[in-house]
Amino acid sequence: MSHPENAIEIRGLRKKYHGGKGFPPHEALKGIDLDVPRGSFFGLLGPNGAGKSTLINILAGLVNKTEGQVSVWGFDIDEAPRNARNSIGVVPQEISFDAFFTPREALELQAGLYGVRKADRRTDEILAAMHLSDKANAYSRALSGGMKRRLLVAKAMVHSPPILVLDEPTAGVDIELRQQLWEHIRALKSGGVTIMLTTHYLEEAEQLCDRIAIINQGEVVANETTGDLLQRIDERELVMRLDRPVEATPDGLRDFPIETEAGNRLTVHYSASKHRVDEVLGAVHDAGYSILDLTMRQADLEDVFMQLTSRK
Ligand code: ADP
Ligand code: MG
Repeated sequence: MSHPENAIEIRGLRKKYHGGKGFPPHEALKGIDLDVPRGSFFGLLGPNGAGKSTLINILAGLVNKTEGQVSVWGFDIDEAPRNARNSIGVVPQEISFDAFFTPREALELQAGLYGVRKADRRTDEILAAMHLSDKANAYSRALSGGMKRRLLVAKAMVHSPPILVLDEPTAGVDIELRQQLWEHIRALKSGGVTIMLTTHYLEEAEQLCDRIAIINQGEVVANETTGDLLQRIDERELVMRLDRPVEATPDGLRDFPIETEAGNRLTVHYSASKHRVDEVLGAVHDAGYSILDLTMRQADLEDVFMQLTSRK
């Protein structure tokens, strides 16, 4: 089969939980449209309760949708659920395993579930890639949190799916292991695997993802390239240390919000799409000040995220 243009296509996806077991009824997804381009590193961001895990669990075939169409690698999850499930590896948010299996046994079992023939299994290779070789025969219950997380990634890879979906994979994983995990995920991506992940670490998404969708209360509020998303906020903050205290607003800065502080500091806010930095610097010069030092702050993903998810 030829490769689909989009690894995942979602149209009008709704999920209503009926409640029970202490949960009130809740509409977790309110009509989601989303395409994940083949080969992309796609970030799905949103505050707690936004519906990220619900969406991922629907892709994984673990939660039934209420309405809408979902196709995975070109397979409709209703019409070809088996093909859809074979095309995706999902690393769930919750860590849960049978504590009495070793990592090697867990991978062999998983491979068996997916019908991977013995000759085609890559158990040792996957264990090595996830830095679990020396724990291959230890009981799962003896693994640290970070090791368990890596074992979950390993399990998701046994059937060599073209799509790997990770739900908050680095929650509770220390920085060094996080780096190792990303190194491996990046290698998978360069091998052609489409990656989708949710994360709370915005910096991580900013660095890894080429495309980011943000969902809030079950709706998509942004879906664009990481670069475009970051450009959405073009606020700049220029902080200057001058040769003497600022007595009056320099003429050329009357239209800009400014703050003056002790230590001869002057802070100017401006919008990068409307003004150039030399306008600001020129105005300060023209007023007779000398600039000894300056720093610039610009919006990062965190600002964009806060802006898009704090509306309601
Ligand atoms: P996220 O992963 O973005 O934090 P979830 O998809 O886990 O969000 O949850 C979305 C919303 O659906 C939350 O308000 C959550 O409480 C609710 N929810 C999740 N699972 C159930 C369930 N089984 N029954 C009722 N409500 C649920
Ligand atoms: Mg979640």
